[in-house]
Amino acid sequence: MREMFGGACIISIVSVLLLYNKVQSEDAISSSLDEPEVEVAREGRELDEANTRIKLLEAKLSELEARLPRANSFPETKFRTYRDRKRILVTGGAGFVGSHLVDTLMLDGHQVFVADNYFTGTRRNIEQWIGHENFEMVHHDIVNPLYLEVDEIYHLASPASPPHYMYNPVKTIKTNTVGTVNMLGLAKRTKARILIASTSEVYGDPEVHPQPESYWGNVNPIGPRACYDEGKRVAETLAYAYHKQSGVDVRVARIFNTYGPRMHANDGRVVSNFVIQALENKPITIYGSGEQTRSFQYVSDLVAGLVALMKSDYTQPVNIGNPEERSINSFAALIRDLVPGSGSRIVHKPAVEDDPQRRRPDISTARRELGWAPSVSIEKGLAKTIEYFRKELGRSDNSEKHNGDATEYVL
Ligand code: NAD
Ligand code: UDP
Ligand code: UDP
Repeated sequence: MREMFGGACIISIVSVLLLYNKVQSEDAISSSLDEPEVEVAREGRELDEANTRIKLLEAKLSELEARLPRANSFPETKFRTYRDRKRILVTGGAGFVGSHLVDTLMLDGHQVFVADNYFTGTRRNIEQWIGHENFEMVHHDIVNPLYLEVDEIYHLASPASPPHYMYNPVKTIKTNTVGTVNMLGLAKRTKARILIASTSEVYGDPEVHPQPESYWGNVNPIGPRACYDEGKRVAETLAYAYHKQSGVDVRVARIFNTYGPRMHANDGRVVSNFVIQALENKPITIYGSGEQTRSFQYVSDLVAGLVALMKSDYTQPVNIGNPEERSINSFAALIRDLVPGSGSRIVHKPAVEDDPQRRRPDISTARRELGWAPSVSIEKGLAKTIEYFRKELGRSDNSEKHNGDATEYVL
């Protein structure tokens, strides 16, 4: 509707411009018959006024053009023939990590299907591709079977932030167990390679530091985080059972804390919370003492790691994260410093139950097997993230499309 309105506006402005020019030239012809000097001065004034009005109308026209959806103006993608163009399914592709992965795969010239139920993801995250011939969005809940013909599956569908995965714990378990069975069944039938997005949460509150893949973890099976932690542990178990029993080609990424543009503003994770609090001059809320640590990786580093793992021949779990570790206290201070003029105070709230106290990936497997290591510094990644949230918080109109194009967030 808005598009039709925008189009109609442009057509009427163009008609007004044409009509105006016509009237101007007719006026010029008739006035040339009147008294010469007075008439010349009058015409001069009128012409100036007319030019000013034309300039205003032209400015309005370009403003309206800029607001029209960029039909057929997609980011430039690599051309691939049928021989090397893959059909790739990204479950959870409308979410934070999934949407960045979709950008990378689309730019690389593949045919990409997204299956998402929009629980925590949005169409806005992938609007840059809607209508592209290589892209298809399937509104689907992976707890139900899905029949598609694909060559690769990145299985990311699952709520990821503690408030989201605790919102409906039973659904979180179903998504990670029943949903994963369905995706492994799909991989088995189509002989597709499947990458499971697992998590550092499989290590629970770790007693080994930093965490190598060989560590079996310390998870409370009945605590508030169990729906997610145990759900992901079962997802891994399922992957290797399908591998052993049916020869399914599996990859398992254990993803550590990741941040960047398109994180859900309301997901309650520490990065989005602190950045938004600092931008809005609200108190920055540290849960507990703030001595607990995390290691944060920027999203484009993660996407590069996932793509490298999918390409590699290594079938055991691989940690993908940034080993630079910080306390939550120092992280709060860093974010406040990176938002100039922020008047936020730092306050402490009660600790949350079963909050892991230390977390840092041992990434020697990823370095050795994938030749991968993160490259984006925390300052650079946070600056991009702050810029994104500043824009999002300032947005006041649905027509302000384009949640960043497909390349601006790759650092
Ligand atoms: P996100 O919440 O932004 O994205 C998850 C996506 O999955 C959303 O689009 C959501 O709508 C979709 N989804 C959820 N349940 C679904 C269902 N039943 N059927 C279909 N779609 C469903 O989270 P994210 O940060 O992008 O995480 C993506 C994946 O990476 C998750 O599997 C998560 O466990 C894993 N991971 C993320 C992090 C991190 O720090 N971001 C860390 C470890 C692991
Ligand atoms: N499945 C799916 N898409 C497919 C193939 C299978 O969603 O293309 C689902 C199907 O619903 C099944 C599950 O994956 O329940 C597991 O498949 P599998 O072949 O392992 O099990 P089976 O069908 O033998 O129970
Ligand atoms: N945290 C915090 N304040 C917040 C949000 C989170 O102090 O507003 C803490 C949280 O208790 C945890 C760390 O930051 O120790 C990371 O939390 P997040 O939810 O981002 O991820 P996860 O606990 O899953 O690693």
